[in-house]
Amino acid sequence: MKNAIYPGSFDPVTIGHLNIIRRAAEIFDHLTVCVMVNAGKNPMFTLEERVDLIRRVTQDLPNVEVDSSGELLADYARRKGKCVIVKGLRAGSDFENEFQMAMINHKLNPDLDTMFLTAEHQYTYLSSSMVKELGRYNVDLQDFLPQEIIPDFIRKMNA
Ligand code: ADP
Repeated sequence: MKNAIYPGSFDPVTIGHLNIIRRAAEIFDHLTVCVMVNAGKNPMFTLEERVDLIRRVTQDLPNVEVDSSGELLADYARRKGKCVIVKGLRAGSDFENEFQMAMINHKLNPDLDTMFLTAEHQYTYLSSSMVKELGRYNVDLQDFLPQEIIPDFIRKMNA
């Protein structure tokens, strides 16, 4: 059984994230999308809300599970058993940081490898922070967020 973990902030989950989830779910037998606590970021959605949003947009994917963790990713993965980390790579700018994280995770947990899926070209510019920026200006979000969570995003933006 090939298991993978896709970790991130997902604040909120975008169609770029969803594209990585769908592709990884085809490659692996089981995929855990894990919302990680990131002390350096001040999230718009709570951990529970982010988990709920991802669950709603992955309902049609039976081999995808959504979880959250405040642990080190290397420890979380160890607890999960044999698995690999999946990350999305948008551009060169992602690479340096992701490469460093992959090396550190491997150092902390030598059983743990990281695999990268390159972003689809139409999503290379897309990030949660960009969506939050656009959200302030009433831009149509259809090309950025999964349809079913747009009302949640607008509600949160106006709260
Ligand atoms: P961000 O806030 O930049 O969207 P996340 O921590 O939520 O970052 O991202 C989790 C993972 O998903 C990272 O590996 C990131 O590179 C990847 N990712 C984010 N957006 C996209 C996208 N549009 N296409 C492909 N991968 C993406």
